[in-house]
Amino acid sequence: MSQVSTPKFDNSYVRLPERFYTRQAPEPVRAPGMIRINEALARQLGISLEWLNSAEGLQVLAGNQLAPGSEPIATVYAAHQFGGWNPRLGDGRAVLLGEVVDSRGRRFDVQLKGSGRTPYSRGGDGRSPLGPVLREYIVSEAMAALGVPTSRSLAAVTTGEKVRRERSLPGAILTRVSSSHIRIGTFQYFASRDDQEAVHILADHVIKRHYPAAAKAERPYVALLQAVIARQANLVADWQQLGFIHGVMNTDNMLVSGDTVDYGPCAFMDAYHPDKVFSSIDEGGRYAYSNQPGIAQWNLAWLARALLPLLDEDEDAAVQAGQQAIDAYEKQYLDAYNDLMRRKLGLARTNEKSITLVTELLQAMHEAGADYTLTFRRLAELAGPTPGPEQASIAGIFELPDTLQPWLEKWRAQLAAEAGPAAERQRQMLALNPVFIPRNHLVEEIIRAATDKDDFEPFHQLVERLAMPCRYDEKDARYATPPRPEQMVARTFCGT
Ligand code: AMP
Ligand code: MG
Repeated sequence: MSQVSTPKFDNSYVRLPERFYTRQAPEPVRAPGMIRINEALARQLGISLEWLNSAEGLQVLAGNQLAPGSEPIATVYAAHQFGGWNPRLGDGRAVLLGEVVDSRGRRFDVQLKGSGRTPYSRGGDGRSPLGPVLREYIVSEAMAALGVPTSRSLAAVTTGEKVRRERSLPGAILTRVSSSHIRIGTFQYFASRDDQEAVHILADHVIKRHYPAAAKAERPYVALLQAVIARQANLVADWQQLGFIHGVMNTDNMLVSGDTVDYGPCAFMDAYHPDKVFSSIDEGGRYAYSNQPGIAQWNLAWLARALLPLLDEDEDAAVQAGQQAIDAYEKQYLDAYNDLMRRKLGLARTNEKSITLVTELLQAMHEAGADYTLTFRRLAELAGPTPGPEQASIAGIFELPDTLQPWLEKWRAQLAAEAGPAAERQRQMLALNPVFIPRNHLVEEIIRAATDKDDFEPFHQLVERLAMPCRYDEKDARYATPPRPEQMVARTFCGT
C-alpha cells in the first residue's frame, strides 16, 4: 500500500444488474511511461497528485495494477452507426475503473481507453496508438476550456508496446473522465432485446445521476426524455457556434448526460464551409457540419423509441409524448444557436434582425472562404475601443476579407442603434470568440513529433496554450494562425 491517498471509488454502475456489463480488468502493458497528468482536473476530482505521479499511480493509469476500490468493467451497448443498426457493441478498448465523487458531490466515471481486449472487442486489439490519445487529450481539454460540456482527459501514458495499424505505432492509454458513459445506444441495447426491466432500471439510474429534477415531475420518464433533448440541443448549438465537427455522431457516441464524447475524427473548421466533412470514413457526408443538428434529432428519436413503454401505459399516448418531445428539439436547438450567434456578434437581442445578420455574415464568409474562428475574433476587436492593454490584436495574422465591407456597415449600423457601452460589449465578445482552437494542422504536427521523434514538448505547449482560448498574446501567433494551403488537413482518421 502506498503512503499517499488513492482515489476513493464509489461504483454505482457495478451495482446495476450484471447484464449491463462484463467484469474486465485492463490488460497489463510492458513498460508504461508518463506523458501528462491533468493537474487541474485531478484537483477538482480530489485525486491526489502525489499519488498520480507516483510509481503506483503510473501502473494504475497503464492498467498494470488496480487501485483499491476499483471494480473494472466493460459496459455493453448497441448503436446505429452511420445509419445502420448494430445490435451489440460495447467498450471494446476501454474499461471503467470506477466512479469518483468530487468535492461538490458530482459523480464521474474514470475510464482507461486503449487498455486491452474485452468481450466487446470483436476483431479489434483493444489498444490505441499514441496519436488518437494525444488528439483526444488536446481536443477534449480545449472543449472544456471553451465551456463546452465534454468528457475530460485526466492522464495519458505510453505503453512501451507497439500497435499495428497501417504501420507499427507506439501504443498509449488515455484516462478519460466523464459524468457517465451512458449512451443513447445503451438504452437501445436493452430496448431492442425487449428487456423492459433493464430499460426501466437504466432510466432510473440516469434520472438519479443526471436529471434528479425529472424524478419530481408528473411523468418522470417524459421529463427525462425532454431534459436529455434539451441538453443535446444546447450541446450541438455549442458545437455549431464554434465550428466543431464531431465526425462520428453514431448513437453509441451520444451520451445521455449531454456531454461531448468520442474524439475520433473530430475537427474544428478553418475556412468556413457549411458542408465541411473531415472524417475519412464519412464518405456520404452524413456527419457534415450542417447536418449535425438534424442528426442529433435523429439520434434522439431512437432514445424516445427505446423509452416508449415508460412514457405512458397507453401506447398511443406514449407515441404522442415521445413525438412531442422530439418535435420540440428543433426550436430548442434554433433558439440556443441563434442566441449564441447574436452574442458572438455583440448584438443585444435575438430577433429577425440578428438572425438575418448572422445568415448574411455566414454567406459572405462562405463565399470568401474566411477563417471561421478568426472572423468572429476580428469582429470582436472591431466592436469597441481596442482590445485593451492586456489583449493583443490578431490584425497581424488575420484581416477580414474586403467582400465583408457591405455586411460590416450593416452590422455597425445595428450596433450603433443599440444602447450600451461599446467597451462592455467588446469585453463580452472577446470572451465569447476564441482566438485559439485546436487547429488540425497543429494537432497533426504534435502527433508527428511525438510519434516519430518521441518529442512531447509540442504536445505540452499546445495543451497549455489551449487552456486560455480567449486570451491573445502575439508571441503565440503561431497557434492562432490559420493553416497555409500546404498545411491544410483535408482528412482526419479515427486511427483506432
Ligand atoms: P467508435 O467508432 O470509436 O465509437 O468505436 C465503435 C466501437 O468499436 C466501440 O464499441 C469500440 O469499443 C470498438 N473499437 C474501436 N476501436 C477498437 C479497437 N482497437 N479494439 C477493439 N474495439 C475497438
Ligand atoms: Mg465510440
